[in-house]
Amino acid sequence: MNRLLIIGPPGAGKGTQAVKISEQLSIPAISTGDIFRKNIKEETDLGKEAKSYIDSGNLVPDSVTNKMVRARLAEDDTKDGFLLDGYPRNPEQVHELDTILAENNEEIDQVLLLVADNEELVQRLLGRAAEQGRTDDNEEVIRHRLNVYEKETAPLLSIYRERGLIKEVNGLGEIDEVTERLLDALK
Ligand code: ADP
Repeated sequence: MNRLLIIGPPGAGKGTQAVKISEQLSIPAISTGDIFRKNIKEETDLGKEAKSYIDSGNLVPDSVTNKMVRARLAEDDTKDGFLLDGYPRNPEQVHELDTILAENNEEIDQVLLLVADNEELVQRLLGRAAEQGRTDDNEEVIRHRLNVYEKETAPLLSIYRERGLIKEVNGLGEIDEVTERLLDALK
């Protein structure tokens, strides 16, 4: 079964690759960042709750994020698998995801880890800031997001490593080249 995660620092290319991989595997790519940004744009209650955290580069509180993911994973299109991008992001979210899946006797099958070095990440994110104007893409907030990744998200890797699920892939290179590497890693 394809119940997959893609984990990696901001700027590693998770979102781009998640869309390509999910197309190849015919499963939905679920990006918590995209769901938050859509809600912010539409000025929903969820968007209003999340905005200040996102703009400062901090994690949205688990109570908010977990509820949103639980609702998304209850939708029909996830029955044959999914690729989660941007969740879980701390140990408490790992626990919640395990709980949600266990309720249906399910579990995560594989975890893609997309890596790149920090200076490359900052340069990519600054480039994207100039192009797309994401409000959390200025240098100070970018560096903060990288720190949040190191402190809160990187510790998850040992959990999934112990379970033998991690497939590490180099995120440097052409987009299609990286997609091939990721698909190979899943075989
Ligand atoms: P990036 O991978 O560039 O950090 P994302 O689009 O994944 O960007 O996330 C953008 C922001 O959305 C994060 O900095 C955080 O504030 C919020 N966010 C996304 N996913 C989560 C999550 N699982 N838990 C808490 N906050 C989240």
